[in-house]
Amino acid sequence: MGLTRDFFITLSQNQALNSAAKRWGLKLGAQSVVAGTNIEEMIASVKKLNAQGISATVDNLGEFVYEREEALKAKEEILAVIQAIHDHQVDAHISLKPTQLGLDISYNFCLENLREIIEKANQYGIFVNFDTEDYGHLQPTFDLIDELSADYNNIGTVIQAYFYHSMENIKKYKDFRLRIVKGAYKEPEHLAYQDKKDIDENYIKLIEYHLLNGKFTSIATHDHHIINHVKQFVKQHNIPKDKFEFQMLYGFRKDLQLQLVKEGFHFCTYVPFGNDWFGYFMRRLAERPQNLSLIAKQIFNKKTNTAIGVGALALILMRANKKRKKHTAKQRKCSGNYKK
Ligand SMILES: Cc1cc2nc3c(=O)[nH]c(=O)nc-3n(C[C@H](O)[C@H](O)[C@H](O)COP(=O)(O)OP(=O)(O)OC[C@H]3O[C@@H](n4cnc5c(N)ncnc54)[C@H](O)[C@@H]3O)c2cc1C
Repeated sequence: MGLTRDFFITLSQNQALNSAAKRWGLKLGAQSVVAGTNIEEMIASVKKLNAQGISATVDNLGEFVYEREEALKAKEEILAVIQAIHDHQVDAHISLKPTQLGLDISYNFCLENLREIIEKANQYGIFVNFDTEDYGHLQPTFDLIDELSADYNNIGTVIQAYFYHSMENIKKYKDFRLRIVKGAYKEPEHLAYQDKKDIDENYIKLIEYHLLNGKFTSIATHDHHIINHVKQFVKQHNIPKDKFEFQMLYGFRKDLQLQLVKEGFHFCTYVPFGNDWFGYFMRRLAERPQNLSLIAKQIFNKKTNTAIGVGALALILMRANKKRKKHTAKQRKCSGNYKK
């Protein structure tokens, strides 16, 4: 069976598996890339990073929330994370997803939840980043930024290079601290580049523009080609090291993370934690199926987890395969109709 990007993205959006995974605890190797299930474990991970000269952006995992109670719970948890960052005086800020705070329930409800979070973070001088999700949530996320930035300046967001229109957004939000990424979701051809070469080219253009014209740039990638290009570019243009940082995800390319710190660059690790890890983890597999070795190690190294690991993986693969077959059959039917 070909394990493709689409396959894992489909899994990441599967509601049943996302709910089930919350009950499993960290399984399938997710603990290699998720920094624990509670605040204590997350703070311990952040302290270790800080000791190595790395700052953290903390994501209390959660997305695609459709119940008010769940969104309010997420808000309370993020407020507790802000308190913990302050109490422990760790070098960390917040990353959040608007759908976690109720964007799919009501725009105003989400706005008020965000306002409370940003207000508290602002009191402690903590920055809050709005992660960008799939295209359907992109404009509402920018609307939230527009509205909240009238009152607060401790917020920023993410620009996804696969979108054709991302240069317009980079220009519009040049006075914000921006994280620039390639983009993690499956987007249609009429909205987004599909080829890696095109995405990489646009990614470099966006980074260069923001480095030259923007406030502060977080270059979030594991791609050493892009990182090497940025190193050359900042040298050529005398861009000071306090105008940008590199970011990578927790658990990925640790040697390269430490190497960049050693070279004197600012470095920030994205630290996800919590029970809602499934969608996040599946997107990481979508980006790089080699990450499946994380699953393999987990299943084969820890005897106690073998049964649950194999069972869960089998369930995932069976359900996804079934869904994929159904999808393919539907597509065939549609294209058949179209041809007629
Ligand atoms: C800190 C951070 C925050 C993010 N926030 C968002 C967000 O808000 N919204 C969003 O849509 N996406 C986000 N992403 C995900 C991002 O959009 C990409 O999907 C993801 O980073 C994969 O692209 P890449 O740039 O890392 O390189 P890729 O295109 O995946 O990889 C390019 C090359 O880099 C090398 N490489 C990559 N990974 C590894 C590895 N683990 N080990 C060895 N070599 C490797 C390989 O040579 C590979 O061919 C975020 C990513 C990071 C790092």
